[in-house]
Amino acid sequence: MAAKRPLAEYEAKRDFARTPEPAPSPEPARPAGAAGGRFVVQRHRARRLHYDFRLEIDGVLVSWAVPKGPTLDPAARHLAVHVEDHPIEYIDFEGVIPAGEYGGGDVIVWDRGTWEPHDTDDPAQAVADGDLHIDLHGEKLRGRFVLVRGGRGSRRRKSGASSGGKEEWLLLHKRDEFAVEGWDPEDHPRSVRSGRTNDEVAADPDAAQWFSDRPANLAALDFSPDRPDIAALDRLGPNGGRWDFDGVTLRLTNLDKVLFPPRPGPGRRKGQLLTKRDLIRWYATVAPVLVPYLSGRAVNLHRYPNGVEAKGFWHKEIPTHAPDWISRWHYSEADPDETQCYIVVDRPATLAWLGNFGAVELHPWTSPTTAPDQPSYALIDIDPGPDTSWDDTLVLARLYRTALEHLGIHGCPKVSGRRGVQVWVPVAGCTFAETRAWVEKVSRTVGKVVPELVSWEWHKANRSGRARLDYTQNAVNKTLVAPYSVRAAPGAPVSMPITWDELDDPDLRPARWTILDAPARLLERGDLFAPVLHPTPGPLPDI
Ligand code: MN
Repeated sequence: MAAKRPLAEYEAKRDFARTPEPAPSPEPARPAGAAGGRFVVQRHRARRLHYDFRLEIDGVLVSWAVPKGPTLDPAARHLAVHVEDHPIEYIDFEGVIPAGEYGGGDVIVWDRGTWEPHDTDDPAQAVADGDLHIDLHGEKLRGRFVLVRGGRGSRRRKSGASSGGKEEWLLLHKRDEFAVEGWDPEDHPRSVRSGRTNDEVAADPDAAQWFSDRPANLAALDFSPDRPDIAALDRLGPNGGRWDFDGVTLRLTNLDKVLFPPRPGPGRRKGQLLTKRDLIRWYATVAPVLVPYLSGRAVNLHRYPNGVEAKGFWHKEIPTHAPDWISRWHYSEADPDETQCYIVVDRPATLAWLGNFGAVELHPWTSPTTAPDQPSYALIDIDPGPDTSWDDTLVLARLYRTALEHLGIHGCPKVSGRRGVQVWVPVAGCTFAETRAWVEKVSRTVGKVVPELVSWEWHKANRSGRARLDYTQNAVNKTLVAPYSVRAAPGAPVSMPITWDELDDPDLRPARWTILDAPARLLERGDLFAPVLHPTPGPLPDI
């Protein structure tokens, strides 16, 4: 802003040899002029709990400390103390500032998204004038907010708003369609970055500092072949035998049966056959991140006991020979000709058992067994037709990205592991009628932009090779393949979560990751799907 070294105060307060907070980048700040940008709200348990509310303005994060936190409650007027500008890099900061350092305590990325100024195209000037109206598109915070200078010290620094003068401002939410009476930020305690709470970050400061986007279940990931249980699996003979895993003894069979032929085409893994042992090893080792997406849900299995080149089949009913320790769910509303009792995967051993059962693909229900009529996600499914190229699929996926960004919705994208891209939008308190209507509306909006790529025909034969934007899976007893599920294709590809930015990565492919390189990907990027497990209750926004 006006000062020559806008981050001088931020730097002066911190010893970057001691705090994990980011030092300002030596590159010059972005030139002024862009209206709006990103925002972050960090929940910071320092000497006193507060929420740091930060707006990207002119290449820095203009910041306020809000003791009671921002709220959607239009009746609340919360004190917001204007503090020093922070560097843009701070927008991702989640971790533990050591005790004794400035701001010592734990920090989570409590909310983030984009903002737009309202009634001004010069937000820096509006801050200097002490009156800024903005629209937030966050995961928790949405709608029109007002920051207004007032109270003690309000006149002290008329134009030095960013100089850290600890001015007292007020933060409030307008009475608009996003306002929620009585809304309390403390009721929404998890990080939108990692899914963790401040307590969980504080309990594992090293992980917080160095693996700051990894939730706790990633700490349990261990793909090493030297793990005693995995080493024991690898020692079993080709016909199998007894295997102790996750507290139970499994009887494994035909371990060296080839289930996956090699991938066609060039590549260092060309020629590698993958067996049932490889499938079991994958499901056993990825269990810490996969089980949360299956737990408490019925699962439909796509089985290929004779390998993925033979015809597979759907299997839903729990088999009579399933051991007693496998959890199951009786669907009381099933018709007599429908599946009555489903497997529920709630522990690693069940995943290993399913691998031995030839269950290559895992398709969990969208709703939990405790409330089968209430979806946990709204599902967007870009289903390419025979003539849809990967570039066409990317065009469609980017249009969804734009649409969701505009709506302020955080959806989690993944490649299907076959040809498509799917997006799961976490919801709570919605009906299937609502999620289905919402996904249809968003999809029709996307489809209107590129009508030449999309068909709305129900029957495949009538789609003239074009893609289908399939909203019909938003219904009870419909499913999409789970994240980290293997797909029935050569090379054992995995349905892998991605970031929205990766849609612009020229190397992205729908079946880019297989059970051979997915472990490295998971260890490097963490569980990008974690936000799906922590929905914000409330209706989906109007379109
Ligand atoms: Mn703070």
